[in-house]
Amino acid sequence: MRLSQMLFFTLRDDPADAEIPSHKLLIRAGYIRRIGSGIYAYLPLMWRVLQKISQIVREEMNATGAQECLLPQLQPAELWKESGRWDTYTKAEGIMFALIDRREQELALGPTHEEVITAIARDMIRSYRQLPLNLYQIQTKFRDEIRPRFGLMRGREFIMKDAYSFNADEESLKKTYEDMHQAYSKILQRSGVAFRAVQADSGAIGGSGSQEFMVLAEAGEDEVLYTEDGQYAANVEKAVSLPTDAEPSPFSTYEKRETPGTNTIEKLCQFLKCSPTQVVKTVLYQAVYDDGITVLVLVSIRGDQEVNDVKLQNALVETKTIASLGTSPKTLLSLTVPTPEAQENWAAKPLPLGYIAPDIGDESIAADKQIHPKFLRLVDQTAVDLKNFVTGANESGYHVVGNNWNQQIKIPSISVDIRKAKPGDRSIHNPQETLRSARGIEVGHIFQLGTKYSQAMGATYTNEQGEEKPLIMGCYGMGVSRLAQSAVEQSYDQDGIVWPVAIAPYHAIVTIPNINDTQQVEIAEKLYTELNQAGVETLLDDRNERAGVKFKDADLIGIPYRIVTGRAIANGKVEVVERQNRKSQEIPIAEVVSTLKQWIVNS
Ligand code: ATP
Ligand code: MG
Repeated sequence: MRLSQMLFFTLRDDPADAEIPSHKLLIRAGYIRRIGSGIYAYLPLMWRVLQKISQIVREEMNATGAQECLLPQLQPAELWKESGRWDTYTKAEGIMFALIDRREQELALGPTHEEVITAIARDMIRSYRQLPLNLYQIQTKFRDEIRPRFGLMRGREFIMKDAYSFNADEESLKKTYEDMHQAYSKILQRSGVAFRAVQADSGAIGGSGSQEFMVLAEAGEDEVLYTEDGQYAANVEKAVSLPTDAEPSPFSTYEKRETPGTNTIEKLCQFLKCSPTQVVKTVLYQAVYDDGITVLVLVSIRGDQEVNDVKLQNALVETKTIASLGTSPKTLLSLTVPTPEAQENWAAKPLPLGYIAPDIGDESIAADKQIHPKFLRLVDQTAVDLKNFVTGANESGYHVVGNNWNQQIKIPSISVDIRKAKPGDRSIHNPQETLRSARGIEVGHIFQLGTKYSQAMGATYTNEQGEEKPLIMGCYGMGVSRLAQSAVEQSYDQDGIVWPVAIAPYHAIVTIPNINDTQQVEIAEKLYTELNQAGVETLLDDRNERAGVKFKDADLIGIPYRIVTGRAIANGKVEVVERQNRKSQEIPIAEVVSTLKQWIVNS
C-alpha cells in the first residue's frame, strides 16, 4: 500500500479523552476512531492487525479440531428466558442491549452465545457418537458496559472469539478444556505478548473451574496474586491465602466497655490497645433479589481483613444461603453497602453503625413486605477461629471484649470464605511462599460449564447405555480487539507503537526521503514491489513530506522494519532500521528481500 493513497492520518498530540498509553497511541497513529461511547471504527491499519490475530486464533483453534461457524447476533429473548439469564443480563447486570421489534417481540444483541449454541445442540446432537464437539466463531459482541473506557479495552461493541464444547462426560470436558488452555497459550505466544494463566471467578456465566489469560501490564484493570515458584496464580477476585496469625487476645474476661468515638477498627484498636486481629468486625450489606425482596446481610470477619465482594456475591446466590432465607429468589439483582438514607427505608430504629455485633437483633428491621424480616448472617473463617475477641455492643459508643462464640455470642449460621487475599499473605500450597501482586489485562477466559445450560434448556444426548443425559459443556472466550490493544500496552516507547512482528499491520515500510530524487524513487518502487511479491507485507511512504515527518510517522505506527532509500544508495545499499531496538544497518539492495524474509521467519 502507498501512503499517498491510503487513509493515513496521524496526530502529534495525545487525544484529550484517552487515559492509557495504548489508547492514546492507537488514536494518534490512526488505527481507531471513536464514534460514540465505547464504540470505535477499526481503520485500515487496525483491521489488518485484527485479521492477523484472528488468523492466529483460527489456526490454533482449528488445530484442536474445533470447527468455525457464525452465530446470529440478534437473539430471541425466549432463549435467555429458558436459561434463566434474561433478568440477570437485562436488569441485574444490565449488560445486554435488549430491544423490541415491530412485531412486539423482545430481542437482544448477543453479549455471549451460550443460549444460542445450546439451542442448536438441543436440536442437532442426539447421540454420544456425535461427541465431543467444539464450535467457535469470531464475531462482534455487544455489551452495555457501565464504564466503557480505554478504547478497545472495554468497548460496548468488540470482537470476540468464543468457542463452546459439548462432551459426554467430565473427563472428556477436562480434555477439551486442557486443549483450549494449550491453544490459548500458543495464540498468545504467537501474538508476541507476555501473559499468565490464572484461576478465575466464574461470575454470571456459571459453572465450576475457570481460568483467565492475563496480559501483564500496569494499566490492567485486574489484579493478579501469584507466587514466585510459579505454582499459584489467581485473579484477586478468586484468590485464596493463609491470613496472618491472630495475636493472642489480651482480654480474658467478658466485659462491656465504653469506647467513645471508636466507630472504625483503627480508632477502636488504639483505644483498647489491642490488635485488629482480635476484633470481629461486622459489615452490613443490602442485597436485592429478583422477587423484589431486599435482604440485609451481616458479614462478620476478622478486623484486619477485608471482604471480597465477588466472593460475597457468589455466597449470596449459593443454594444453602438462598435456602436459609426460606423464600426462593433466583437472581441477585444488586449488592451494596447501604447509605444512611437507604437504611431509613428499612431500619426500625437507627442502627449503631460502627458498633454492630454479629448478633444484633432482627427487631432492628422494620416490618415491611419488601424487606426480609431477618438478617442474613455470614461469618468468615478468620472470625470463626478467634477466642476472647472484641465486638461491637450493639449500642453506640460501646464494645464488648472477651467474647467467645456460643458462650456469650451466637455464631452466625453460615460460614464462608469471604475474605480478600492480599499481597504479602502466605500461600496455601506452600506457606513459605508469599503472594505477590501484578496487574493484568484479561484477554481470555475458559470455563468448564458443566450442565447449567443444557439442563435449563433441555439439551440432552443418548449415552452408550441408551440413557438420556444432559450435555456437558465448556465455553472459551478470547477478546480479539482487546488483545490487539493489550499488545500495544505492553510494547511501545516514547516515539510510538512497537508491534510484535506477527501481528503488525505491515512488516516493513519503504521510506523515500526525497520524492524529487528519481533514483531514490526508482529503487524504492522496485523494493516495494519485490518485497510484497515475496510475501513481506510492505508499505511505501511516497508522500511529498519531509524525511523527518516520514520517519516520525513510521515510528508512531510501529512498523517493525523501515527501509530508507537515502544516501547509502550511492554505494548500492539501503539503510534498514529495526523499530524495536533502533538498530540500523546498511544492506546491499540485492539482499534486502532475502534478509527481510529471514528476519520475519525468525522473529
Ligand atoms: P471483564 O471482566 O473484563 O468485563 P468478562 O469476564 O465479562 O470481562 P468474558 O465474558 O469472559 O469477559 O468474555 C471473554 C473475553 O472477551 C474477555 O476475556 C475479554 O478479553 C473480552 N471482553 C469482554 N468484555 C469486553 C469489552 N467490553 N471490550 C473488549 N473486550 C471484552
Ligand atoms: Mg471473564
